[in-house]
Amino acid sequence: MLSELYQEVILDHGKKPRNFGELASATHQAEGYNTLCGDRVIVQVEMDGETVRNIQFVGAGCAICMASTSMMTSFVKGKSINEIECVFEVFHSAVTGGEADMEPLGDLEALVGVKQYPNRIKCATLGWHALSSAFKSPILEEK
Ligand code: ZN
Repeated sequence: MLSELYQEVILDHGKKPRNFGELASATHQAEGYNTLCGDRVIVQVEMDGETVRNIQFVGAGCAICMASTSMMTSFVKGKSINEIECVFEVFHSAVTGGEADMEPLGDLEALVGVKQYPNRIKCATLGWHALSSAFKSPILEEK
C-alpha cells in the first residue's frame, strides 16, 4: 500500500509539475541534460545570500525526471545551500542503493524506488545536479 501511495505522489508531480515556468527574478541557473533518456531541464533560482528564495524550472523529460525535479523544487524552497547539499547527498545515496537515513527526505522518499531501475537513476537526480551547478552559475547581467 505504501508503494502505491508513493506512486501517486510521483504521478501527481509528473502530471502537474510544481514551480514550472521561467523565473524572471532568477539570479542563478543551470541546465541538466540526461543523454540516456533525453531529459533536459533548466533550473532557475533566486538566491537570497545562501538561501533559495525562489526556484522554478523549464524543460521536458520523462515522468520520473519531471516528477523528481518538481518535488526537488518544492523541497528546496526556503532552504540554505548547505541543507540542500546534505539532503541531496542522502537522496543520491538512497537512489543509488546505498545506506541512507530516509528521515530528512520527507516526500522525496517516494523516488527511492528508482534504485531498482539503474537506468532511471539519472532521471531522478538530473534536477538535483542542475540545481547544484546553478548554485555555482550566477546569471550575469547583460549590459
Ligand atoms: Zn528520464
